[in-house]
Formats: sequence, structure tokens, C-alpha cells
Amino acid sequence: MFDINEIREQFPILGEKVYGKPLIYFDNGATTHRPRRVIEKMDEYYYKYNSNVHRGVHYLSNKCTDANEEAREVVRGFINAASTKEIIFTRGTTESINLVAYTFSEAFLHPGDEVLVTEMEHHANIVPWQMACERKGATLKVIPFNEQGELDLSNLDSLITAKTKILGIAYVSNVLGTVNPVAELIKKAHAVGAKVLVDAAQAIPHIPVDVQALDCDFLAFSGHKIYGPTGVGILYGKESLLEQLPPWHGGGEMIKTVTFAKTTYNELPFKFEAGTPDFIGIIGLGEALKFVSEIGMSDIRAHELALLNYAHSELAKIDGMRFYGTATEKSGAISFLVGDIHPFDLGTLLDHMGVAVRTGQLCAEPVMQHYGINGLVRASLGVYNTEQEVDVLVKSIKRAAAMF
Ligand code: PMP
Repeated sequence: MFDINEIREQFPILGEKVYGKPLIYFDNGATTHRPRRVIEKMDEYYYKYNSNVHRGVHYLSNKCTDANEEAREVVRGFINAASTKEIIFTRGTTESINLVAYTFSEAFLHPGDEVLVTEMEHHANIVPWQMACERKGATLKVIPFNEQGELDLSNLDSLITAKTKILGIAYVSNVLGTVNPVAELIKKAHAVGAKVLVDAAQAIPHIPVDVQALDCDFLAFSGHKIYGPTGVGILYGKESLLEQLPPWHGGGEMIKTVTFAKTTYNELPFKFEAGTPDFIGIIGLGEALKFVSEIGMSDIRAHELALLNYAHSELAKIDGMRFYGTATEKSGAISFLVGDIHPFDLGTLLDHMGVAVRTGQLCAEPVMQHYGINGLVRASLGVYNTEQEVDVLVKSIKRAAAMF
């Protein structure tokens, strides 16, 4: 049973005060908090076992190596990958996408080819592809979105063509909250022989993700957005495809043998894991995924969806409220402006009332350009948020608006 009080008790930071007021945290899209068990698990490894992984013959090193590989198995199960060879530890979504953009373009992108993204992507799923296209003489194409913040698929046949080599798409938009029809787009892309990278940074904490059901070729997410530590993320890739990509970073661990004449590379997933990984972070991420799995991703989705609907209907009662992103399928984020109040001013006033929201361009300048605005206020939900907190948010916005 989903017990919100029990869940909240597991997050020590939720008991903190800011400016003497109880913290109300609606900036989960930027980063989530960590439950006590994640912090304690990492502490335990620092206090008792810390030692480099995959290198030692001694007790401590084996202990950390085992825990590192156990976490890989937890990640595999969590996204239903076929094999742990398909789970690569990175620093986060950004690094995962850069890894694919670089190595995939080295292997498969040629002058005249096209890379497709959507207009609602985070900069992390735009810029690495622009860099790859520039290097390879390829062209970046964009699937637009409509006023509700849903992808406009009316011209899809002219966008996904034989020239398309890869589609990079957010499962859930970090600004609009739209849940994109990724399974449908993956089918379309595969029909022309294109591959698909799913940016699951904003999907992974909110909705069940199954890479085999989606049939995506790559999928990226960050630990810190799903109640895990910063500095660790995941790249999932189909084994057969990862085998065809050249290595990215060179160094220890990613090699089989090194001579000055020739180096041979390690097998998956280690071929893409040069250097010492953030193994304590990886162990923490494994614990975070156990935490959400024990609650159940379906229950988390149900709780957050009810809260999202409640928040939309309560916020809509505020004079001058304008939502950006009103898709039928939504998750996580509500972005808005109130009257002509500057988002930074509103965010700052809310902060002084103890309410944390994100303001600005939200690392998605093309979304701002679409609407002709220079920033938004975003309230993004997490598993621990409540209707009472939404009520405080609404009351605080009303108070702030009255000051203008
Ligand atoms: N993609 C999306 C959709 C995001 O929301 C974010 C984080 N805001 C990222 C990518 C980048 O994640 P990170 O900074 O953890 O690499």
C-alpha cells in the first residue's frame, strides 16, 4: 500500500526548514532527494569497504566489485534489459547521450545523412547531435510540437526517411511534462532502418520503463533524478549495436591488452567504462532503484498522476495563470507564467515562502523560442509530494501575485 507519510519519513531533508518555514520541494525535475537508505548504503561502503573495483584480489576490492556488479543487475532488472552487458555506467544522462552521439556518428553517420530530434528536447539531447552532425557533414532535423505541447506528427513521413540514421527523443519533456509516444516513433524509425535513443531522464522516476517492450536502441537516464546520488547515470544499448560502436574514452578497464603496436578492447559493458567509476555512487543508485521498486513504479505513477491533476485544477484557479504544456499524456512537470510577473521574481518570492520551484529557460531554449517567452516557472513532482504541499504552492503564488 502506498503510504505517503511512511515515504516522507524516509527523506531526512523533508524535515528541514528554509527561512524558518517548512521546506516544500517542487524542483524534482532538476534533482530529487535521497532517502536515508541510499545515504546510509553509501556511507556504509565508505566507512567499511571502500576500495577500487575490478582491480584487486583483496577482500575490500572484491566487496566493492561485487556490489558494483550487483547494482548493474538491479539496473538491468529495473528497465528489463536482456543482459548486464547492455548496462553502461556513466556520469549521467548528458554523458550517456554524448557517448552515443560520438560513437554512433563515428560508426554510422556520413555526409548527407540526417539526425532527427524533437523541438522539446533538453539541450543535452540537442547539442551532442549538433556536434556530431557538424563533424560528419550530416543534417539535424526537428519534429515540431503544437500549442498543447504534443509532438506534431502530421509531417512525420517527410521527417523520418531513408536518410534518417538516428532519432533522439525525450520520453518525457522536462518543460512540458508531455509523455511522448516513443514506442510508436521507434516503430516508424525502425521501418526506415534508423536507430532511436530515448532520453529517459524525466521518465525514469515517474513511469515504468521497459526497454525490450519499447524496443529502443539506446536509453539514457541519471541517478540523481530517481532518488539516487549525483555523478552516476546509465546508458542502455542493445548488445548487438554496442558491439558495433567504437570505444569512446580510452584508459584503464576498457582494454584487454595494450602494447605500443596495438591495443585490444575489453568486452561489454567495460569497453565503455574507462577509468575508475563512481562505484559508491553506483551502489547508491542500486539502492535507490530498490527503494522505488519496493514502492512500485505503477503506484508511484498513480500517486503522481493524481497529484498532477489536482495541481493543474488548483493552479488553474489563480488569476492570470497560463500553462505551458497541456498534453493529454503528462507526467512530472507543470510549467506556467502568471500575468506579466517575471518568472525569476515569482520564483524568488516563492523561495522566501519556503517553496522551491525552478525558473528560467529550463535547459530547453527552443521550447522558449516556440512560445516567444524568455522563461517559465516549473513545479515538478516527486514521490513524496502531497496535496497539502500543492495547496501551499497555490496560496503562495496568490500571495506573491498580490504583491505585484
Ligand atoms: N534530459 C532531460 C530531459 C533532462 O531533464 C535532464 C536534466 N534536467 C537531462 C537530460 C540532463 O541530465 P543530467 O544533467 O543529469 O546529465
